[in-house]
Amino acid sequence: MSKTASANGDNDDNTDMNIPHYLMWFRRDLRLHDNTALTALCERAQADHARVSAVFFLTPEQWHAHDTSLVQVDHIARTLPILAKALQAQLNITLTVQRCPSFADCIDELSILSQDNNIRCIMANHEYEGNEIDRDEKLAKQLAKDNIEFVRWHDQCILPPQSITTNDGDSMYQVFTPFYKKWRHTLDISSIQMHEATAINNNKTKLKLSKDSATTLQDIEALSNKVVSAYQKSRQKTDLSQHLDMGAQLTKARAAYPAGETAACQRLNDFIADDIDDYDISRDTPSLEATSQLSAYLTIGVISPRLCYLQASLAQEKLHGNDGDNEDINRWISELAWRDFYRHVLVYKPALIRHKAYKEETDKKIDWSYDKDGLEAWCTGKTGVPLVDAAIRSLNATGFMHNRLRMVTAMFLTKDLLIDWRLGERYFMQQLIDGDFASNNGGWQWSASTGTDSAPYFRIMNPFSQGKTHDKDGVFIKTWLPELKDIPASILHSEDKMRKELAKGGKFADIDYPVPMVEHKAARQLAIAEFKKS
Ligand code: FAD
Repeated sequence: MSKTASANGDNDDNTDMNIPHYLMWFRRDLRLHDNTALTALCERAQADHARVSAVFFLTPEQWHAHDTSLVQVDHIARTLPILAKALQAQLNITLTVQRCPSFADCIDELSILSQDNNIRCIMANHEYEGNEIDRDEKLAKQLAKDNIEFVRWHDQCILPPQSITTNDGDSMYQVFTPFYKKWRHTLDISSIQMHEATAINNNKTKLKLSKDSATTLQDIEALSNKVVSAYQKSRQKTDLSQHLDMGAQLTKARAAYPAGETAACQRLNDFIADDIDDYDISRDTPSLEATSQLSAYLTIGVISPRLCYLQASLAQEKLHGNDGDNEDINRWISELAWRDFYRHVLVYKPALIRHKAYKEETDKKIDWSYDKDGLEAWCTGKTGVPLVDAAIRSLNATGFMHNRLRMVTAMFLTKDLLIDWRLGERYFMQQLIDGDFASNNGGWQWSASTGTDSAPYFRIMNPFSQGKTHDKDGVFIKTWLPELKDIPASILHSEDKMRKELAKGGKFADIDYPVPMVEHKAARQLAIAEFKKS
C-alpha cells in the first residue's frame, strides 16, 4: 500500500505528467549544504522548469552484509527526519524514506518509481565501495533502457579520486607524504567552492510510492525506528557482538552525537574556535578529547569535508594572514587529507574491497592466526594489557575509539597476537559510529604492515610504553577499567610489574583483572620473524 501524505499534511498527488520530474537519491550525503548532486539537480530543475523529489532507502540486509554498526544505522535514522524537515522548509522538496532491504531491491524500486512518476533524471553522489559501484552500474544500465538519465557526482572527498596523480604518469601515489604535498598544492592554486542549492518552484510535488515508505516527518521517524529496532535484534545475535550491551552503547552514542547538519556544523565551529590551535600537541592524548569528533558526521555525509577544509583554512588566514602557517591547523588539515588518501587508494585498487591486502604478497606468506580465545579476549577488553583493554571497552561502550588507540589496539591484535587484520577490521566496522570502509581498511592495513604507506613490520608499538607516553597518569585507563583505579600508573605502564603485582602474592592479586595474555617482547620477535619470512 502506498502512503502519500506529504510533510505539510497535504494528500494531493501531483500527477501532471507533462512537467519533467527529477529525483535526488540521498545516500551517504545526508545534508543540504555543499551537496554537489543536490545543487546540480536544483539548478537543472530550475532551468528545465522541472519538479524535484528526493528519496532515501533504508537497506538493513545490505548493512548487515557490510557489518555496519547499530550506532551508525541509528545515526542515519536520527538524521533522516531532520533532513526531511530542512529539505521541505529550505528547498521545497519532499523526502521519501523507503525500506528496501537489499541493493537489488533498490534497483527495482528506482525503476518502478521512475516509471510511475515520469522521472527523467536521477542524481546522486558517488560511493566508492564495490557493492555500491555494482549497484549503480546495474541501475544505470536499467535506466538507460528507459531513457532515464542517472548522473553521479564526486562529493565525498575534498579533491576527487584520480585527481591527484604522480608527476611522471597517471598513477596513484603509493605513500601519503607526496600525495599530501600535491593535494595541498592543488588546493592552494584552485579556489575550492561550496555548492549551495537554491529553492525551486515545486509546489505539492511528491512521489507515488509502492510500499513500505514514509514522507511525513512522523512516518519517517516511525519507519526509521522500526528498522533500527529490528536491526538491533539481528546485530545482537552476531558472533562477535553477543557480549555487548547494545542498548547502553546506543544511549551513549545518541547523547554524544546529536543528529543533523546544524549540530555537525556547530561542532566544527566549536572545534575551530576552541581546540584546533592545540591540536598538534593534544591530539594524541585520549583522555583530553581534543580531536574534532567529526568523523561520525563525515562518514554519513552530514557535514561536507570541503566545509571542514575551508573553515580550517580561514582560521589559518585569520591567525597568520595570507602566508599563514600554523602547525596545529596544518596537522588537522593533513588528517582530512588522510581521509581523501584512503578513498583515492580504494578507487585505485578495487581489490581492497574484497579485503585483499594492498601488499598482496603478505596474503600469501603470512600465517595469520584465527585463535578464537585470543580474538574474544581482545573484543571484550580482557587481554591484561591496560591501554588495549581500556580502548576496546571505550569502543564497546560508546561506539567511538580515539585514533591513537585504534593504532595501538590494531597493532596488538595483528602483531602481538598475529591475528588476521581482517577480523579486527570487521569488529571495528561492527562497533564504530564512524565505520567507513576506506578509512578503516586503510587504518587496519597500516597497522598490520600490509597496506600502502604502512608501518614498517619491525616498528611494533609496545602497548605499555604507548600507555606511558599517551596516558601518563593512567587517567584514560582508569576511566574505562575502574577495577585498576588503585594501581599506580608506574605499574600500569610496566608489563613486568603488572605480571608481578597481579600474580598470587602480589600487591594487587585480589583485583579481578587478567595478567597480560602475551609477553610483548617475545610476541614482537615472533611477528618480525613471520614478516621476515615473507
Ligand atoms: P580528527 O583528529 O579531528 O580528524 C579530522 C577528520 O580527519 C576525522 O574526522 C576523519 O574524517 C579524518 N581522519 C583523521 N585521521 C584519519 C586517518 N588516520 N585516516 C583517515 N581519516 C582520518 N576513521 C573513520 O572515519 N572511520 C573508520 O572506520 C576508521 N577506522 C580506523 C581504523 C584504524 C585501525 C585506524 C588506525 C584509524 C581509523 N580511522 C577511521 C581514522 C581515525 O582514527 C578517525 O578518523 C578519527 O579517530 C576520528 O576522530 P575525529 O573525528 O575526532 O578526528
